[in-house]
Amino acid sequence: MPRERREPEKWLFTNALMRQAILAIGEVMGERGLKVVLRQAGMERYVDELPPDDLEQGISTTEYAALNQAVEEFYGRAGKGMLKRIGRASFRYGVEEQTALMGVAGAALKLMPQKTRIKFILTQTAKSLMDVNDETYIEIQETPEGFAFADFTCGVCCGRKAEHPICHLYIGSISEAVKWATGHDYEVREIECRSMGAEACRFLVAERE
Ligand SMILES: [Zn+2]
Repeated sequence: MPRERREPEKWLFTNALMRQAILAIGEVMGERGLKVVLRQAGMERYVDELPPDDLEQGISTTEYAALNQAVEEFYGRAGKGMLKRIGRASFRYGVEEQTALMGVAGAALKLMPQKTRIKFILTQTAKSLMDVNDETYIEIQETPEGFAFADFTCGVCCGRKAEHPICHLYIGSISEAVKWATGHDYEVREIECRSMGAEACRFLVAERE
């Protein structure tokens, strides 16, 4: 069961993760686009200076959600695809920061079957996110349709309400993580979202074939 948690409005977010997201937005949207969405999200302070590259919980999680919302609103209908691209780029920045750890994992992965690789990367991702933030709670579930990554403390939609799943950036990051571990593109879908009242944002990594 999930641990005791405070209200989502009080959740805190890891500096390095926000830094990676901002770098990824800059890569996908360009510097001008990045400035627009930072201002829109009320985060002007990061226009000239990125958050520090450390694992402190220095940011309000609702700001991370506001940044996602700003990108979505900037692009309208194209927002979903752009956020997925940003999520992919964000994971790649994360891998770069942890080259030593990921290098060892990468070598071990080559010897495993595909399904084990998927489980491994999802479990490792969940573990590292929970290690840096006491409040984060994620479960990896095995279902007949494939593995599900269930985040009970999703930052993407923190405090938001929606009629359909909105954690597109998260889909992108999970897609890129699975690709990194398997060498293949798997379909990742968000089947439940906290913004719609679910207890967790649940991302299904579909089995291939
Ligand atoms: Zn979510």
